[in-house]
Amino acid sequence: MNKSDSYILALDQGTTSSRAILFNDKAQVIGQAQHEFEQIFPKSGWVEHDPMEIWSSQRSALTDVLERNSVSPEKVHAIGITNQRETTIIWDKKTGQPVYNAIVWQCRRTMSLCQKLVDEGKRQLIQDKTGLVLDPYFSASKIKWILDHVDGARKKAEAGELLFGTVDSWITWKLTRGNIHITDPTNASRTMLYNIHTKMWDDELLDLFNVPRSMLPEVRPSSSYIGLAQVGGKEIPICGIAGDQQASLFGQQCFKPGSAKNTYGTGCFLLMNTGTTPVQSSHGLLTTLALGSQCELNYALEGSVFMGGATIQWLRDELGFVRDEHDSAYFAQKVDSNEGVYLVPAFTGLGAPYWDPQAKGALSGLTRGTNRNHIIRAALEAIAYQSLDVLKAMQKDAQLNLQQLHVDGGAIKNNFLMQFQADMIDVDVILSHQAESSAFGAACLAGLASDFWHTMEEIHNKIGAKKTFKPQIDQGLKQQYYQGWQKAVQATLTSVTHHQPYPIL
Ligand code: ADP
Repeated sequence: MNKSDSYILALDQGTTSSRAILFNDKAQVIGQAQHEFEQIFPKSGWVEHDPMEIWSSQRSALTDVLERNSVSPEKVHAIGITNQRETTIIWDKKTGQPVYNAIVWQCRRTMSLCQKLVDEGKRQLIQDKTGLVLDPYFSASKIKWILDHVDGARKKAEAGELLFGTVDSWITWKLTRGNIHITDPTNASRTMLYNIHTKMWDDELLDLFNVPRSMLPEVRPSSSYIGLAQVGGKEIPICGIAGDQQASLFGQQCFKPGSAKNTYGTGCFLLMNTGTTPVQSSHGLLTTLALGSQCELNYALEGSVFMGGATIQWLRDELGFVRDEHDSAYFAQKVDSNEGVYLVPAFTGLGAPYWDPQAKGALSGLTRGTNRNHIIRAALEAIAYQSLDVLKAMQKDAQLNLQQLHVDGGAIKNNFLMQFQADMIDVDVILSHQAESSAFGAACLAGLASDFWHTMEEIHNKIGAKKTFKPQIDQGLKQQYYQGWQKAVQATLTSVTHHQPYPIL
């Protein structure tokens, strides 16, 4: 196959839409297609997707991107898959029919089940083996719920007639017409059934959640030949799989211990590579499997900020301070300093490292001279301070210095925010060359396993230099700003602290 006339196809199965993106040999995006699908909320706090719609939207995105760009399936060298993590699907091995809707990562229906395990003293065992905090977020309690609540499901599962998979497994199984039931270590590490030290499914955890081993997918390396997808009567090798956050960490080349990425979307998602050492957090962060430069398994610490870009949406929708999020940078730059004004957007409580689900938001430091621009500035600063708080916790846990921060997501277009972030963390902030960093990571995994590309260095040389924000602020001023933030946060804290990694919906 002539490389300049062939492509890597990344499938990005996200929480609200399925996307397909074509990359050429220069690692450039040549086309993409996207299909949204229904979010199902059967009860308060419950979130589901229809697995058949996940599949049909993904298949439509795939066929659309090929058709619109006049690329025939023969010209696709390999497929890479990245996906919303933890979301749980169980289906019948023979008929291919799901026995229940997909239970989405956001779904809180298994709170009481998780609380029961906490009460039985299982929290530490689970953290030791999986790196995760005992919470409904992860797959294990969702599998148990389906087996316990769907008529006949447990009996069928015990007879070996049902299969479990996260969305990567489901998509691969559908693409290969039911031939291949696999996942990769990054996705497996989010199920709460996979031991991140032995890198195997763990019998003690399977017993704890009462999950039959026969349901589980085989775990294959993230960058390897996995099987043949049937597309338009042709066969395309699937050669890459990783969960969305780990795919982004990989695509952004965070390979050195201490290198981290932050995705500035609705919330912020931070991951720091800690190399071959699994670091257990004492700040409620997660330990998870990630990928090194040779696609070997590394470990990462993971944390999130609940109110990221959503803080700016709040300024727009609830306060009417900006018409468009983009304008926030312009208004923030109109004031030379924050003048002691802080916004703590604890609208859904505070996460790492504070873990106070009862905390409420606050605006402080107001004077007669405070105007709208100060508040807009405070909102943008808050995104950076919260990210800094998580990064500080990661550095403390891992005893590593932050090397660089690689960034992606919708809000990286905001120059004020990016410069302020660099100032606060005191290392370079490096912008992703394109918005789709998870899809890019999946494309890299597939391209490397299929000899389309040879090293990550080669791929990054093709991309060239990236936009970088360097720290510029005076150190004294930086300290003053951050101390002000810490005081403002302290004032919002209640005495109730939990160790819940995610807010209760
Ligand atoms: P998600 O994938 O979570 O939907 P995106 O990566 O699409 O998020 O980013 C959207 C978020 O980024 C929104 O919360 C929006 O308010 C924020 N955002 C987008 N552009 C800007 C900007 N120029 N400045 C600040 N925030 C922005």
